[in-house]
Amino acid sequence: MEESLLPNRYLITKKVIEISFKFIHKFYSTNEYINRRFGRDTDVKCNFCHELTETRTHLFWLRSIVKSLWVSICKFMADSIDKGFILFWRNVLFGLVDSNSHKEKSHITYMSNLIIIMAKFHKCQFTHRKPCFVAFYNEFKQYIHSIQHSQNQKFVKTVTACESFHIFLNKPLPLPPSVKYQDERLFFFLLILFLIISLPEIFTL
Ligand SMILES: [Zn+2]
Repeated sequence: MEESLLPNRYLITKKVIEISFKFIHKFYSTNEYINRRFGRDTDVKCNFCHELTETRTHLFWLRSIVKSLWVSICKFMADSIDKGFILFWRNVLFGLVDSNSHKEKSHITYMSNLIIIMAKFHKCQFTHRKPCFVAFYNEFKQYIHSIQHSQNQKFVKTVTACESFHIFLNKPLPLPPSVKYQDERLFFFLLILFLIISLPEIFTL
């Protein structure tokens, strides 16, 4: 029962709530669902790969293009919200549940659940295109921008959570440490290259 109330904890659009609700109550419209519910003539094969049965798990978890979105989201969560963040399929279905009432932990759970809900919605919008983490991040940023001056308690809670994690604010996407490291390596490589090229000229002065 607790899980079914999850989307109601946030102030999100009707469309996002609808997708979350259908997901939780197992009537998200997949070919497998339509076949099971309405008739045997419907093809259960996935509309994209045309090989495997189109179930919720296939569409939202197992397809490689969706997997890559979840991998990017997990990395972002681990870098920005919770170092030890691990995502399971059951979390995509029902969200994360607080095992204790520690304030900091509940802040993490609150933000993580909102990101999972919005990621599922992002995936639905990108039905015929590859879901993209940067596009997802920018969509989320726009949502936060649109609610940041509202006095509504649910909006205030969401904006406060974003501020505490320094995410989705009016700043560029935080670079993962690996990218920063690569940038630093490139800088030192170019510096050394410059010195090597310039050395003969310096000595001839
Ligand atoms: Zn498929």
